Amino acid sequence: MVGSKKQETSSNVPSTDMQQRLNATVPHNMPLYLAAVWQCESTDQADRLLAGELDGYVYQRDRHPNADLFAEACQQLHQAERAAITSSGMAAISLAVLSQLQSGDHLLISNQLYGRTTLLLTSELQRLGIEHSLVDPYDLPSVRSAITPQTKMIVVETIANPLLRIVDIRGLAEIAHAADALLLVDNTFATPAICKPLTLGADLVMESVSKFMNGHGDVMLGMLAGREEHWARVEMVNAAWGFASSPLECWLACRGISTLTLRMQQASATAQAAAELLAGRKEVESVQYPGLEDHIDYALAREQFVNGFGHMVTFRLAGGRAAADKVIASGEIPFCPSLGDVSTTLSHPTSTSHRGLSEQQRVALGITEGMIRLSVGVDPTVNVLSHLEKALDQAAE
Ligand SMILES: *Cc1c(COP(=O)(O)O)cnc(C)c1O
Repeated sequence: MVGSKKQETSSNVPSTDMQQRLNATVPHNMPLYLAAVWQCESTDQADRLLAGELDGYVYQRDRHPNADLFAEACQQLHQAERAAITSSGMAAISLAVLSQLQSGDHLLISNQLYGRTTLLLTSELQRLGIEHSLVDPYDLPSVRSAITPQTKMIVVETIANPLLRIVDIRGLAEIAHAADALLLVDNTFATPAICKPLTLGADLVMESVSKFMNGHGDVMLGMLAGREEHWARVEMVNAAWGFASSPLECWLACRGISTLTLRMQQASATAQAAAELLAGRKEVESVQYPGLEDHIDYALAREQFVNGFGHMVTFRLAGGRAAADKVIASGEIPFCPSLGDVSTTLSHPTSTSHRGLSEQQRVALGITEGMIRLSVGVDPTVNVLSHLEKALDQAAE
């Protein structure tokens, strides 16, 4: 019988024969390590592994091979000294603030952040004694004047939802560093395929891997990258607060990220064509896309981005909510209140991502009932343009 040396008591541990066979060659792709715990040889080895004196794996929450491999890929993409993987994008933001801030500190946060991030950095952190001020990140003098002696961090998004405004990362890094504070950039919409905030002066960068980074709509994961000096706290907080990622998600994300640049180039090219098509349609009141010359941050986008201007396009329909409902009802492009899938999807900010805002706040940000946000996928450009045209034809009726 094959594996006759196998002990009957250990159903999931390879026999000595099989262990030898496994060690003879190395798989070209890293296998999925669904192990909660690793075996130790001796009390001394266990002691040294757990003390961090010996490099190796013991317990999945602290460290596992699939997260390490994905972290290495992210680290390279961002040209970072270190990267950490978390169970979601929100966990990555939590990891950044809980590892670097403490009670009594003050944060400056963009007034155009992802809704849950705003909730986390305002209400949740306030409960822990961390104060904040909301700032307009596109007005650098106002950011500078909002700094207090307690300010320890500035938090912004490279490309903000849904108006797709671009922050000046270099300018914000200068303001943060003059105050001895850190700049944390949420780079989810951009991804390292088009922007690497650490190379522009940011101290920490995070992404929701659940979006375009993984890009296949099947993973929930987050990533935080930065410098060695911050990493002892990052690793401790990641394990202690239990933000750890699952091996399967990391394995899938490694596969997703291997085509990141290709996918972003394709999606960006289609997004540019879609933005130009939309700009020429009478049903469309305005188009926000950083690759259009009339976008308010076009010059900044050109300076900070490579491989295109991103996969997100936002537009306002002249016919308001009724027109938006017709575009959605046409079924030409699936209505999904998220982004970054392989296929093109659309979302409606007033009924989804920005429903928590008051009418007044939405007006102030320029978010209208007729606003549609496209997340362009890697489907052929002609298909996306034809679906979009048909959907707009419906809105015109
Ligand atoms: C989705 C998203 C997050 C949160 O990420 P999850 O993986 O959903 O927890 C944070 N920031 C931005 C910009 C996002 O789009």
